[in-house]
Amino acid sequence: MTIENQPVQLPLLSQKNIILHIKREDFIHPFVSGNKFRKLKYNLIEARKQGFESLLTFGGAYSNHIAATAYAAREKGFKSIGVIRGEELADQWSQNPTLRFAKAQGMQLHFVSRETYRTKTDARFLDGLQTQYGPAFILPEGGANALAVKGCEEILKDVDARFHVLCSCVGTGGTLAGIINSSAPTQSVLGFPALKGDFLKEDIRKFAQKGNWELQTDYHFGGYAKVDERLIRFINDFRRKTGIPLDPIYTGKMVFGILDLIKKDFFPPNTSILAIHTGGLQGIAGMNQRLKRKHLPLLEL
Ligand SMILES: *Cc1c(COP(=O)(O)O)cnc(C)c1O
Repeated sequence: MTIENQPVQLPLLSQKNIILHIKREDFIHPFVSGNKFRKLKYNLIEARKQGFESLLTFGGAYSNHIAATAYAAREKGFKSIGVIRGEELADQWSQNPTLRFAKAQGMQLHFVSRETYRTKTDARFLDGLQTQYGPAFILPEGGANALAVKGCEEILKDVDARFHVLCSCVGTGGTLAGIINSSAPTQSVLGFPALKGDFLKEDIRKFAQKGNWELQTDYHFGGYAKVDERLIRFINDFRRKTGIPLDPIYTGKMVFGILDLIKKDFFPPNTSILAIHTGGLQGIAGMNQRLKRKHLPLLEL
């Protein structure tokens, strides 16, 4: 699969003499987009090797990982079970675009309270689920494990070694670790966390084999899945000017951050930057439902 690096043209970039390309991993698939596809690849191979017929995983109501797992499971002939945070969704799932998609792929949805969801790595909870649904290969929330990192090491190609700086969004940090591992030691890797918290650095260190990286922690917009009017307007404006759609949870915050750093002369002139578009566009429909309820501007499709 060849994914193009798309050059971005904006007055700010020519003014500051910065080259910015975006690796369009969102083109992999409209629902199994970007890093979730990469993170599943070796996990599904392993599940098959171990003889499992079912995949079991976890996520919130709008989770890209749930959508991707449901689709990939069906495509590869696995049954799938999604443990979803929020009991109240049990009779509302049909109004939720992500859950509707997952169900249409054949995923069995198992709704639990937020309290139970917090116990999702406990052996007793996992045993109970497998008594109910049968033995299953268990994928962690967000799909982050060593096999997922291995898949993300395939995002960069040899030609990408010509960029000075590599940028990626950070949720669990699995994707960033994959990029760090496949980067050249002379390149610097910048991660843009989509959530608040200091735990990320430790998690990334577990999987990252080099030290050529840092996190830019000022662009989470209040926390995971939090958005404001400024971010929505930025995403719509960026799309109109460049033709590139961004998602509000991850890639929108990262590109906002990159352009803000460029404005503040963080990068020396003649720096070339490759930003990874990790996908996530399936989440826009669900986000627009929430924005509508809050009387905020909607994301343009
Ligand atoms: C899950 C996700 C991320 C975060 O990836 P991690 O490997 O968990 O850091 C980034 N972007 C998109 C679009 C995602 O769906």
